[in-house]
Amino acid sequence: MKRLLLAVPFLLLAGFALETRQTATHKFEEIAAGVFFVTGGDKVVVGSNSLVVVNDDDVLVVDSHITPEAARALIASVKTITNKPIRTLVNSHYHYDHANGNQVFGKDVEIIGHEYTRRKLLGDVLHEATFLNNGSVATQERVAAGIEEQIQKASGVQKTALEARLALQRRHIQEIGEVKPTPPNVTLTNRMTLHRGSREIQLLHLGRAHTAGDVAVYLPADQIIFTGDMFYRGAPYLGDGFPDEFVQTLERLKGMDWKMAVGGHGPLIRDRAQVDFNQQYLREYWGQVKGFHAAKMTKEQARGKLDLSKYKDFARFQLTAPGVLEIEVGRMYNLLNGVRD
Ligand SMILES: [Zn+2]
Repeated sequence: MKRLLLAVPFLLLAGFALETRQTATHKFEEIAAGVFFVTGGDKVVVGSNSLVVVNDDDVLVVDSHITPEAARALIASVKTITNKPIRTLVNSHYHYDHANGNQVFGKDVEIIGHEYTRRKLLGDVLHEATFLNNGSVATQERVAAGIEEQIQKASGVQKTALEARLALQRRHIQEIGEVKPTPPNVTLTNRMTLHRGSREIQLLHLGRAHTAGDVAVYLPADQIIFTGDMFYRGAPYLGDGFPDEFVQTLERLKGMDWKMAVGGHGPLIRDRAQVDFNQQYLREYWGQVKGFHAAKMTKEQARGKLDLSKYKDFARFQLTAPGVLEIEVGRMYNLLNGVRD
């Protein structure tokens, strides 16, 4: 009885209940009134998380997924949760899995990103190492071939599931061909505040980290921050990163008031101690490579010596994809040799 009495004022205070909704292609988890943590399912390869913010009169979307097709599915999903028009798209950074859906947002949608993000997307991003080694048709063909190999050995339900994954992967490969990198048409260097009806939305460049143009989207009233690939539960990809500045940038994230962080990948984060853990990983990784560089080892020798086994689960992707380690260590050697872009 006591519990019931307590529950009623709480509901009155909140005004309504937060809902999770499943669309044809996405899951929309409402984490504050009108604020949705958006993840993909198994109907279309989306490549990354998004944040959808429904304001008094319009909608703001953060990150546009990995292909135009994934972005179309996201836009269609938004239409099923609100009649309000999408007026703003924010790019957390320029990487293909977050910005290659940009082109399908209409002319009346402002695309906001860091000045660096615009510069990169106006350049030749589809021929840079990060895309060529992770997101290109050739790499995705290899993923498809891996699934085919597994199908040969599988049977029953497992085989059916793998066949569905292969079909999805084949469609994804088709969809990559449609990509035309599309830059933000509104840019910032440090910060920008949007006032949308009663909502304040801050776009913040906290410093260089995953790229030179990372932008976090902060909702001060709800204490929610979308951090893109600067912060999620897992090792950040460092192929275009600044591991020597990353820890300090995360320190600024720690200095802010937030109770939920939405990363570009992985689950919603409520545990602020995760930031400390990511910092430890970055210090360890950078520290080792810096040591190998100082000892005049070649990049290849450094890669052979590198020991991140302490972070085995955290850094799974980096450790199992030799191409990634090669790019990351190469990147760190460039930084140590004074090449910074
Ligand atoms: Zn990224």
